[in-house]
Amino acid sequence: MAIATINPATGETLKSFESLSDADVKNAISTAHEAFGDYRKTSFEQRAEWMLKAADILEQDKADFAKIMTLEMGKPYKSAVAEVEKCASVCRYYADKAAEFLADVYVETDANKSFVKYQPLGVILAVMPWNFPFWQVFRFVAPTLMAGNVGLLKHASNVPQCALAIENIIQRAGFPQGVFQSLLIGSDKVANIVADERVKAATLTGSEGAGASLAAIAGKHLKKTVLELGGSDPFIVLASADIEVAAVTGTTARMLNNGQSCIAAKRFIVAEDIADEFEKLLLEKFQALKIGDPMQEDTNIGPLATADILKELDEQVQKSINNGAKVLMGGKPLLNMKGNYYPPTILSDISPDSATAKEEFFGPVAMLFRVKDIDEAITIANNTPFGLGASAWTTDTAEQQRLISEIEAGAVFINSLVKSDPRMPFGGTKLSGYGRELSIQGIHEFVNVKTVWVK
Ligand code: NAP
Repeated sequence: MAIATINPATGETLKSFESLSDADVKNAISTAHEAFGDYRKTSFEQRAEWMLKAADILEQDKADFAKIMTLEMGKPYKSAVAEVEKCASVCRYYADKAAEFLADVYVETDANKSFVKYQPLGVILAVMPWNFPFWQVFRFVAPTLMAGNVGLLKHASNVPQCALAIENIIQRAGFPQGVFQSLLIGSDKVANIVADERVKAATLTGSEGAGASLAAIAGKHLKKTVLELGGSDPFIVLASADIEVAAVTGTTARMLNNGQSCIAAKRFIVAEDIADEFEKLLLEKFQALKIGDPMQEDTNIGPLATADILKELDEQVQKSINNGAKVLMGGKPLLNMKGNYYPPTILSDISPDSATAKEEFFGPVAMLFRVKDIDEAITIANNTPFGLGASAWTTDTAEQQRLISEIEAGAVFINSLVKSDPRMPFGGTKLSGYGRELSIQGIHEFVNVKTVWVK
């Protein structure tokens, strides 16, 4: 994929970038490795000071950063602003918490003194997607740098200006030269970076194919990985739920980021008794969404990030229709609009065992399933290779308990949409990946847990 800024709202190529050469990449790894030698010795207080400065820069210049995101990948400008603010919050969170999360843990044994010490590993590679081009990177950067590691970023090829802006923020914040670098490269250069002995671990957020490919190379070189991959989250609505609130929240949960979120509500699984009413409300809410220029404040749905994503989504919807799905609204690209526009779409009457019912739809398409009871709801919810998040709506506490314990996912949210929060771990099971980001679990992924025994 060419490294370029292509405005998804117009299809216009605004800026192209040359990939770094193999020699440039080697130099960048050397710079990172050398920077680690001193950086690992800096105090938590010093790192926190730089991290807090990064948070200030993010907040001061949020309008500029939001514009770059919207220009490169089409998310509505106001959600781009909110994304920058969330990045500032994760910087502040780890600036405040890292020392506590990585403090020595004393353990009573027969030694005079025994404890667990957390130490940084060195150069960590992050391969990141375009859909939350700032947030995905900052939720890696904040814990990784606070732990004393140094980072290399290979960002998605369609968001190069976001990658460069993030590198610039870290530099302006005062972090030493080489502690964080954005490498403008295609995915073909990732394998050699992982293989380099100076690179100690890697994290990838993206598709299962990309994750499997990175993990295979890392496995060959015995390096740790964290993978945050796709999802096809269920959104279960049972009879006791507040249906109006569920429909409003379900609309937000499906449409966030023009439908291109890993934790979007993708499969609506609704109890028969309330299904007609829920379907009517969901249709109303979807129909009320404003599609248009993502730079406009009142736009709810902008274009999909690339022409390929539009094409793939259209093919998936057509396949579903061929498999018997009924289109309640939408169902075709908006060819009268310039850019990669796809309308809010609802598909019903989907056979739960059809291939498309188990796939991830990465765009504004909701699948609607009707179920007779909670048993069937849980069966359909788990009938997918993914296990990222799940949202379930019921006021019955016995039902809540069953959903919490029986849904196969990295997160279950009751009467709320699934969201990431710096204070809570984030990650998946099954094909949605492994490892966790955020919270204490996130900062513990890339450290050496050293056992110390003093007799
Ligand atoms: P993608 O094609 O897998 O790309 C993600 C990143 O991986 C990009 O930087 C890409 O580089 C790189 N890449 C692609 N193939 C690779 C390979 N074989 N080896 C190494 N790197 C490779 O994913 P996407 O379509 O951009 O992103 C959407 C997917 O990400 C969805 O499935 C979504 O659910 C998932 N996602 C998951 C989470 C989570 O936290 N679980 C969060 C957000 C998104 P190029 O751009 O140069 O190809």
